[in-house]
Amino acid sequence: MTRPNMHYADLRDSYLFRRIAQKIAAYEEDHPGVHLYRMGIGDVSLPLCDAVIRALHKAVDDQANATRFHGYMPECGAPFLREAIAAHYVSRGVSLDVDEVFVSSGASDELGDILDLFDARSSAMVIEPAYPAYVDANVMAGRAIIHVPTCEEDGFLPRPSDDLQANVIYLCSPNNPTGAVFGRKRLQDWVDFANRHGSVILFDAAYEAFIEDEELPHSIFELEGARTCAIEICSLSKTAGFTGTRLGYTVIPTELRRCGMSLHDMWVRNRTTKTNGVSYVIQRGGAAVFTPEGQRQIHQNISVYKRNARVLMDALDKVGVWYCGGRNAPYLWLRCPDGLGSWEFFDRLLNEIQVVGTPGEGFGSCGEGYFRLSTFGNPHDTIEAAQRLADGSVFR
Ligand code: PLP
Repeated sequence: MTRPNMHYADLRDSYLFRRIAQKIAAYEEDHPGVHLYRMGIGDVSLPLCDAVIRALHKAVDDQANATRFHGYMPECGAPFLREAIAAHYVSRGVSLDVDEVFVSSGASDELGDILDLFDARSSAMVIEPAYPAYVDANVMAGRAIIHVPTCEEDGFLPRPSDDLQANVIYLCSPNNPTGAVFGRKRLQDWVDFANRHGSVILFDAAYEAFIEDEELPHSIFELEGARTCAIEICSLSKTAGFTGTRLGYTVIPTELRRCGMSLHDMWVRNRTTKTNGVSYVIQRGGAAVFTPEGQRQIHQNISVYKRNARVLMDALDKVGVWYCGGRNAPYLWLRCPDGLGSWEFFDRLLNEIQVVGTPGEGFGSCGEGYFRLSTFGNPHDTIEAAQRLADGSVFR
């Protein structure tokens, strides 16, 4: 009898977003035609910017022309895109070799696939509340998971502690779901800790483009010592609206070695074995993001989401609710009123003001009692949702 990967049986029953979808479907069936204000989505609502669309069209035309046609692409990424990304890092003061940049189909794919680099018995540290894929990818691989809870008091950004060690450490900044962002000093502590213990940090920078405070690091490679202990995983999904177009990139420095093995070279071997590269057309669209025009246009879109954040923050300020995030991140993380559980608060918002958010408990048990609002919704709905929240009835 073929034995399946039995670790799948250890996954938690219901994935957060599936349970939300089920609750919404049930509500819509009972209340046909009632409009819902969706502040729960992690998906973007604005279309791709003009510079990207033009590059995509042009690349499609290349595919119709025998001399400009592209077949298989280099597995680790097209040189034109790897160079554009490396140049983008230079603008942050980070110098990378072009071949340290790996083009991917998105951060989710990489967050799962990258585990191939580590021994099956490696442990993984997940700082919670966290993006659920970190835990689930490790459960599927049967790895030991060290859950590190965080709280309001530490700003949801814990310091490393020698009592808690793991081979692989997930750090996400700006954080989904809390919106918390590591400052240089606190992030440096983690880099030093990882170098001291031989751990590898998987730094998820999917939301770096939302950072507006100048002193905050966008990349872990802005910090001293990160090249010997970190892998950075990035995405164009939220930065540039590529959630459905699919494109990301991963940086693995050549100095990152463990037990005499180069993780960079291992990843080259992995990609050349397990992928045939990302589509030429999509990579051309991605390269347009890193042009001056593309940067200007994606930041226009990001500023729309930031206005949504402002509107929601004003509403929460008005009713005096504790929250964090929203300023350097596209999520607001608020404390549920009256000690309500996060699913109870979800039901209250859905039933009483038709606003849909995301229960904090879905991001780890320490998220219980908190609630995430996303700023990616359409601005009209966000204004209406904010008014309904500001009315205060759901917080009394
Ligand atoms: N990392 C974090 C923290 C996310 O919130 C998300 C998506 O919501 C991803 C990664 C996945 O990004 P992608 O669309 O590139 O797979």
